[in-house]
Formats: sequence, structure tokens, C-alpha cells
Amino acid sequence: DIPVICVDGPTASGKGTLASQLAARLGYELLDSGALYRVTAHAALQAGLTLEAGDEAAIAELARALPVSFDGDRVLLSGQDVTDAIRSETGGMNASKVSVLPAVRAALVELQHGFRRLPGLVADGRDMGTVIFPEAPLKVFLNASAEQRAVRRHKQLISKGVSARLEDLLADLKERDLRDTTRKSAPLLPAQDALPLDNSELGIEESVQLVLSWWEG
Ligand code: C5P
Repeated sequence: DIPVICVDGPTASGKGTLASQLAARLGYELLDSGALYRVTAHAALQAGLTLEAGDEAAIAELARALPVSFDGDRVLLSGQDVTDAIRSETGGMNASKVSVLPAVRAALVELQHGFRRLPGLVADGRDMGTVIFPEAPLKVFLNASAEQRAVRRHKQLISKGVSARLEDLLADLKERDLRDTTRKSAPLLPAQDALPLDNSELGIEESVQLVLSWWEG
């Protein structure tokens, strides 16, 4: 039985950092499921599709055979590095648009299950604990206030030399939260057996240590 730790939560809650730190410390595989939705949206736009329900079947077909691969923190589509494009705010907004389409979500299930390899997996997303790995022994639901998350995202962008206005980031984040929590297919909700972790007042290392202590029980 290959163990899975799920880290779910809203946009910019620090899931990515927490999940990759956990995977590195435990020597586990890492699934960044958001990247799969981001790459799907990118591939759809490249193929001339819209990100609307009218193109749902075509986007799902693309997603089912998505030529995505990961090389460290770089994300490749058909061998081409698309990391910067998909990690942008627009990339996130586009991902959130395709992620409401049920056929697209269904098309990505098998790809996500494929990341479950020995010695274990840390899965980062919105529905890891509720839909993709419901049997996972540890599910963490990460949260932080929208304001706190917007400030973090702002710092992240500034450090990459990207200028952004805090109020625009906060508005974008709220828009994505609303779409993620109100969509019909796999809305963002904590699994019943998820442990909540509000990291508004916690540093990365404190969050990592807390989850490791839960894991080592
Ligand atoms: O986590 P990340 O910000 O990369 O995710 C981008 C978008 O993909 C999210 O806003 C969400 O709409 C969608 N997503 C999802 N289910 C997941 C991961 C991401 O719907 N498991």
C-alpha cells in the first residue's frame, strides 16, 4: 500500500511550498495537480480552443493524452518549457476556467493516480482528499485569510521581478476562490477526515514540522 499525504486548500494558501517541502523531506513523489489544470488550459489555447463549455469535449480529449512532464520545478508540454506561462496570474485564471468542466476533471484522474509511486506521494490540489485519493491516511486542509494570501502572492511576484497591485491580486484571488468553491464538479471543500491547518500566523518550517508530526503520529 503506497501512502499518500493530501494537501488541499485555496489559491496561494502555501500548499505548493508545504507539499514540496514534505515530499523532499520524506523522499516522496510530488503531484502538483494545479499544474495539470494550468497545462491543460495552455494546451487548449494553443490548439485554438476557448476555455468554455462549448469546447469541453475537445479540451477533455487533450487532457486525457496530455504530453506533460516535470523536470525539477520546470513544467514541460511536449518537451517545451511552459513554466513561466502557466505560473502567471493569467495562467492561474485560465486553469480555474477549465477546472469547472467535469469532462476535463474526469480526463485528468488517471494521470493523477499515476503519480502514486513508492515510497509515497504528497499530492497538492483542491480535491486530492475528496476525489482523487479519498483513502489517503493523512489529509491536510490548508488555509489562510484572503488578505494574507494576497500579500504572499504579491511578495512572490515582486521577488520574481513581476509588478502587480495588491488590490488586483486580492480581487483575482477572491474570484478564483468563488469559482473553486461554487463549481458543481468537485468544489473546493475539506474532506470529512481532513485536518485543518491555518497557516496565517505560521512560518513554512513550522507548518512542515506540524504536518510531519501528524504523519509520524
Ligand atoms: O493550485 P493552482 O493555483 O496551481 O491551481 C490552479 C487552478 O486549478 C485552481 O484555481 C483551481 O481552479 C484548479 N485546480 C483544481 N483542482 C485541483 C488543482 C487545481 O480545480 N486539484
